[in-house]
Amino acid sequence: MPETKAPSTLRSAGALRNLIIIGAGHNGLVTAYYLAKAGFKPLVLERREIAGGACVTEEFYPGFRCSTLATSTGPLLPQIVRDLQLERHGMEFIKPAVRVFSPDANGRSLCLFEDPKRTADELGRLSAGDAKSYPDFIKTFARIGRALAPLLAMTPPNIDKPAKSELWNLGKLGWGIRGLGRKDEYRLLRYGPMAVADLAAEWFETESLRATVAARGIFGAFAGPWSAGTSAGLLLQAATDGHAIAPAAFLKGGMGALTQALAKAAIEAGAEIRTNAEVASVSVRDGKATGVVLTNGEEIPAWTTVSNADPGVTFLDLLAYGELEPGFLAKIRNYRAHGTVAKVHLALSALPKFTGLDDEDAFERLSGRIHIGPDIDYLERAFDAAKYGDFSPRPYLDITIPTLTDPSLAPVGAHVMSIHAQFAPYKLKDGDWNSRREELGDAVVNVLCDYAPNLKESIVARQVITPLDLEKTYGLSGGHIHHGEMSLDQLFAFRPLIGWAQYRAPIKGLYLCGAGTHPGGGVTGAPGMNASHEIIKDVKRSPR
Ligand SMILES: Cc1cc2nc3c(=O)[nH]c(=O)nc-3n(C[C@H](O)[C@H](O)[C@H](O)COP(=O)(O)OP(=O)(O)OC[C@H]3O[C@@H](n4cnc5c(N)ncnc54)[C@H](O)[C@@H]3O)c2cc1C
Repeated sequence: MPETKAPSTLRSAGALRNLIIIGAGHNGLVTAYYLAKAGFKPLVLERREIAGGACVTEEFYPGFRCSTLATSTGPLLPQIVRDLQLERHGMEFIKPAVRVFSPDANGRSLCLFEDPKRTADELGRLSAGDAKSYPDFIKTFARIGRALAPLLAMTPPNIDKPAKSELWNLGKLGWGIRGLGRKDEYRLLRYGPMAVADLAAEWFETESLRATVAARGIFGAFAGPWSAGTSAGLLLQAATDGHAIAPAAFLKGGMGALTQALAKAAIEAGAEIRTNAEVASVSVRDGKATGVVLTNGEEIPAWTTVSNADPGVTFLDLLAYGELEPGFLAKIRNYRAHGTVAKVHLALSALPKFTGLDDEDAFERLSGRIHIGPDIDYLERAFDAAKYGDFSPRPYLDITIPTLTDPSLAPVGAHVMSIHAQFAPYKLKDGDWNSRREELGDAVVNVLCDYAPNLKESIVARQVITPLDLEKTYGLSGGHIHHGEMSLDQLFAFRPLIGWAQYRAPIKGLYLCGAGTHPGGGVTGAPGMNASHEIIKDVKRSPR
């Protein structure tokens, strides 16, 4: 798709240029870039002291930095990387040879490499059947992913009255799916609603491989591997990346380097970014958004207001009660966003030694993601705890050691371990997150010591980020990492609500551009890009 050009109506109409974007997450910055290119003068208002939202690199202990929340890109849509010339703005990708290393507590492990042939050789040690199935699994999801990929850059159709262009886009998508052939078409239809534990069992017999594959379906979700619909996570991943298993797509300097590059591209295109600028409310007059008021009382008028904040913040916190129709309000209150993720960062004086892993292999095998969750039952039990209002004493962990591929993040010889821990529900039945924070940190470290027994000796410092911190510090309602559950009932034309999936809010002049819109969470930039297209379309239709 060519880069967005400014419609002449927009370029000539100075009054239209006044546009506010609430939030400088990666999607807000992508939106700012495309709208600036289209002739607007976007003002991005970010409540925190730094831009980036969930894509930031922060120092958590003197000399030790890491990607505080997201650790890997989704990956980003290639079109965005090209349009914004992110590499020219300083972004440097790191792509380790390993996607995921998955150890068990007995010193056995499996490693999924980027190269499927190398993975098949590795799996051959465990199961000849799995070694044979794996390349087929990879190719199948690559094919299905290619057919689904156009979905990401598409605005979901108006369900009641689809426009001709929407029908055309759906037709093209359907044509691509038809092109898959009957076998893959059936697979696609079956997989979406399936429990990911069933899908993994259909393909593989090795329990640890099943669990490693299933993990993608439950990452960030309030769901266990036996929950219906969790296979959809693998399909979405394949659409984004051509691969069903989570990528290890890192950046030099951490995820903050991405949002810094996005910010530079947006500023160069004409946007302005203000940090420490928290929006208290969106002003509405006669059913139209007219600007915002900051928490310091400053009023900023705007022709258009775009919210990168999640649907909870946008509709329940920033709009005055009564601005939204009661039916809409009731539905948005039922939008599910119960966070279940915590993060633990460890500053380490040395690289921990994983049982059964040779020192010479360690650097390579630990350089992608490390999956802790040796079997499907383990993952399901970890979810059980959250169902009943507690965090798991044996959580499923998704770990990165970014200093293996980017030593600049810690002092020489030292390392950082960044641990994504599930399940840790936002709402605890007993106690609260402030009093139970360190208990969670202990549980995570204790589990890890089963795999890397010398870990405790090398811990210099520890940071625990609870779901409550995700809400309070990073502005994520309910501590949900994706701005709301990525389940089938909250995806595509249902995100955030059916009838409101086209980035427009029920208030005229107010739009959404964040992960609470299609295609949802993950560092892809797609919601931000799609939202900008809709805003530009509206201006072309009715320039004022
Ligand atoms: C712990 C965690 C781990 C994750 N891991 C991964 C991963 O490895 N890979 C991956 O692809 N995705 C991951 N994700 C998901 C991914 O990071 C998010 O889906 C994505 O970054 C959301 O981007 P966004 O721009 O839509 O929103 P955000 O990044 O949430 O940005 C929204 C911005 O709006 C600001 N804001 C909110 N309210 C206001 C207000 N009132 N005034 C002004 N500003 C406001 C916020 O401060 C924030 O900067 C993870 C997320 C989390 C939290």
